[in-house]
Amino acid sequence: MNQIEYKNYQMEWRKKNKDYIKKCRHQYYLMNKNKAREQSLKWKKNNKKRYKKLMVDWIERNREKLRLYHQEYRKRNKDKLFQIGQRYREKNKNRELLRHRNERQQIKLIALIKYSKNPPECICCGEKELSFLTIDHIRGGGTRHRKNIKTGIYRWLKKMNYPRGYRVLCMNCNFAIGIFGFCPHQNLNLKRRAKNEIIKNK
Ligand SMILES: [Zn+2]
Ligand SMILES: [Zn+2]
Repeated sequence: MNQIEYKNYQMEWRKKNKDYIKKCRHQYYLMNKNKAREQSLKWKKNNKKRYKKLMVDWIERNREKLRLYHQEYRKRNKDKLFQIGQRYREKNKNRELLRHRNERQQIKLIALIKYSKNPPECICCGEKELSFLTIDHIRGGGTRHRKNIKTGIYRWLKKMNYPRGYRVLCMNCNFAIGIFGFCPHQNLNLKRRAKNEIIKNK
């Protein structure tokens, strides 16, 4: 038997005894677990790129199997996973809240700028503090409208692409207009204007 023949023979033998080799390897692995693990770690470290490619290929080949496995795992560990999720949610509650609040504030700010200027202000008194500013329905009916839309006014305005009929007012002016039908500011402004005019005319 020359070298090539021997090689071919070896290959044939390996092909024929695949399962046996596998078994032997596994046996060896079980007997030398720590050593094998160490070796495999070493190999992984030295062949990072090849290892990654192998892993990617393996995942690609076993996609369906993995999906089923994960599905099964989730089913089996429902309670455990729920608890982990619960713990995570508990831990990140504040962060979640903050994220939601930031998002809401962002949407509000955009709406206020759309109906005012940048930075937005109360059309009546010029108040600039964002937490005092609201959107006012020019023709009234705001409360009813707010009740009808479930998403909140700013989100709704965004969804409707900022329709006409709204303006920015501060809480004070909004409240006064709602109750008296006009804002005392305007009275004041008128008085001041009248006074100025009187002074000017003197
Ligand atoms: Zn105002
Ligand atoms: Zn006012």
